Parts: sequence; structure tokens; C-alpha cells
Amino acid sequence: MRQIIRKGMNVARINFSHGDHETHGETIDRIRRIAAEENAVIAIMCDLQGPKIRIGKIAKEPLELAPGDTIRLTLNEKLANNDDPYTVLLPHPEFVRDIEAGMSLLLDDGNLEFVVREVDSETLVCEVIIGGNLTSRKGVTAPTAKLTLSAITEKDRTDVEFALKKNADYIAMSFVRSEEDLRELRWLMRHLGGDNPPAIVSKIEKHEALENIEAIIESSDAIMVARGDLGVETPAEEVPVHQKRIIRLCNIASKPVITATQMLNSMVDNARPTRAEASDVYNAIMDGTDAVMLSNETAMGNFPVVAVETMATIAVIAEQNLLGERDIRRIYQPNAKGREVISDAISQATSQIAEVLQCKAIVTSTLTGYTARRVAKERPRTPIICVTPSEITFRRMALVWGVIPMMTPQFHTIDEMITMVVQTANNSGLVVRGDSLVIIAGVPFGVGGQTNFLKLHIVGESGEL
Ligand code: PEP
Repeated sequence: MRQIIRKGMNVARINFSHGDHETHGETIDRIRRIAAEENAVIAIMCDLQGPKIRIGKIAKEPLELAPGDTIRLTLNEKLANNDDPYTVLLPHPEFVRDIEAGMSLLLDDGNLEFVVREVDSETLVCEVIIGGNLTSRKGVTAPTAKLTLSAITEKDRTDVEFALKKNADYIAMSFVRSEEDLRELRWLMRHLGGDNPPAIVSKIEKHEALENIEAIIESSDAIMVARGDLGVETPAEEVPVHQKRIIRLCNIASKPVITATQMLNSMVDNARPTRAEASDVYNAIMDGTDAVMLSNETAMGNFPVVAVETMATIAVIAEQNLLGERDIRRIYQPNAKGREVISDAISQATSQIAEVLQCKAIVTSTLTGYTARRVAKERPRTPIICVTPSEITFRRMALVWGVIPMMTPQFHTIDEMITMVVQTANNSGLVVRGDSLVIIAGVPFGVGGQTNFLKLHIVGESGEL
């Protein structure tokens, strides 16, 4: 973990699809202890399993299925336990209720495909379209069904409680379909007594989510392009189209976006990435992703440290080529009004002033992180230092592109704010007397959701050092 942090990890995902609370608790404690020792800012993102639909146990596995075979998926345990190997338990009544004849079912991450030919109250009679070997507990998806089942399972509820207890910085919600699902999660966190609940990352992996993407982005704190399940719910060939659109919409909305899954998949077994993987990571960054994510490469692969190092190296190369290349005008909301327009104008001006005057840093003073997110959207060449009195914002900023988070004591006036942010940046060794900075903020302090203050500042000139 120490090596992984040193090589560049900013956020650790704790995947509740695997493991138990005891082990996850130990992992979170270990990450936080090592991060403190290494003076690194690492956010913890707890990832809920969500309503993953799985078949039951297959008595004699693998069950070999050929195109044209008939297979029954049933809620009825007795029927599933009879001697017919082609009748398999599907213990999800809410799912079975939503399936109609003619729909396709994909199993085992899309490796097998069935079409439902008949439906009764407890059994789906299916024809095998793409065959293969079916084994116990494989996942089932119905890409064209409108599923009514709750986005939050009983297991998710206990996992949310655990994430609140461990003060997670982000909570990732799987299989989000609409902003309604997010409302349910926010309600649950409030109900469970989270005074400062984690920020919500919506995982985009369902076709319904693509239809409601703008509203989901608006209701989320961050987004993950969860390409694994997205490539099952929609054709894998279309994933790049969705990925680019989601990233662009997140950039417009100044919401951090993570690109996830199979980024360096071959590094589970090899110490070098494929050329296609290196290009995939590079291109996601050029397209505007804030974060790139590793999954099994670091969770169970043979080269976890090298995988992080490789990804960080590609990110640095991409950023060197990104800066100045992006046409920033294209990421503005066409119909933005009021505070949004002012924030965009200040952030855009900040990026240009810092570049023209060769400033040492852009310093954003922020309580909620809004100002730092706005200026990060410009992808400026100048480093962005995010100075905040909020420990919550401090750690959340680890997910945002190019932001160096720092804590400062609470301030009340603009003069106090300038003194404190400059002292904080100076104490970190990133700026020294005589450096020029662009300081931006939202005033009055504590209101949030606006960036309306800009000062060009020479370090030491106001006697703050
Ligand atoms: C994905 O599906 O790409 C993903 C990130 O989710 P999970 O790892 O939980 O399947």
C-alpha cells in the first residue's frame, strides 16, 4: 500500500461486492495510517454492490448449453432442485416480474445469451442464442427491461451504515437508473444519521442511466463510467461513444468523472501494458476524465505497484500533451445563467491570467470545493492549489483533476483569507516570497456554489509572511 501511494494513488476504492466489514475496516485504517505517514491525501470511496441479479447454484457444473437448447430460470426452489439440469434457480422475484416474452437475457458478463420465449408467474422459459458453459451464481442482465426493483438492497443498507461509520469520503452507487435512485441513497444516509455523509459517485452502467444522464450528473457529486457492466448492458462496441459523451457532460457540469475497468487489464499477469491499453488511458485523459481507475490489476493482479506506476506515467505524459491543446470554449454550458456564467468567466480568466503572467500557482480558497472544480475544468497549465478549512473538502479534492489540496485555519474576511491561503501555500514549500499567484474564491464565504473573486497577488507584498 505504501508503494502504491508513493507511485500516485489518489483514491482507494473499497469494493463491497467482495470481502467483509472486518477486512474492509482494516484496509481503510491501513490506508489512512500510511497516507498520514506519507503526507499524502487519499480519499476513500466505498462502492456498493447494488442489485446484482444472479442465478443460484448449478448442481452439476459446468452446464453446457448449445444454441437452440431450452433452459428454465425459476423462482421455485423445488423445481430447480429436481433432476432436470436445464431448470436453474433465479431467486429474484422482482426481476422475474419485470421480464416479458421476447426479451434478451445476458449471463456471465454477456458471454451467454438467452431469449425469453414464455413467462409464467415463477418461471422464464428461454431459448439459448449464444451457448457456452454456465456455472453457479453467474450474473444475469436484461438490457431492454425497465426494472422496478429497488436500487438499494438489504446488503447495501448495512454497507452504507459501515461506510458512514468509517467516514468514507465517497460512496459509489451501482446500477443507478435515474436521479430517484440517488434521492433514495441520500435519504438513507440522512436516516442513518450521517451528519456529513460521503459524496455520491453514480456508476453509469445501465441503459436507463444513459437516457437520464444529464439529471443524474446534476444530482451526483461525481460520476464513474463503469465500463464493465456498461459493456454488458449496451454493446461493448458502443462503450466508447457513451464514455466520451459522459466525460464531456461531466466537464460541462464541472463534476469529477472516473473512467473505470480493464484500463490495464493485461497487467494482471504482465509487467507491461499492451499498446492498446496505454492508448486507452491516454485517450480518456485527453477526452477530459479526471480520474482513471484500476480494479483487478491492483485488487488481485501480480503487478499492483507497477500497474499504478504505469498508469501514473501515462497520465503525466497525457497531461503534458493535453495542456494548451484543449479547446476550452467547447466545454461551456450553452444556456448557463447567473452564478454559473460568472464562475465560468472567472475560472477561464484565471487560467489565462496565470499563463500570461507565468504565475507560480492558482490558489483557490474554497469551503465546498466548488471553486477548485470550476478552475480544474479549464485544465490550466498552472498548478491549482486548493486551500480549504474543511477536512471533508480537503480529502474529496483528491478525485479532482490537477488539484493539490491543503488545509487552512478558518477565516472570516477577505484579508484574513489571503493571509492564510498564502501562508499555507508557503508552508508547503510550493510558493516563496516574490512568486505571483492568482487567488480566486467565492464571497461571501460559506455560501458555496459561486466563484466571483479574483486577486493577482505577489507573495509577501502584503506582509503576510
Ligand atoms: C464496472 O462495472 O465497470 C465497475 C466498475 O463496477 P464493478 O467493479 O463493481 O463491477
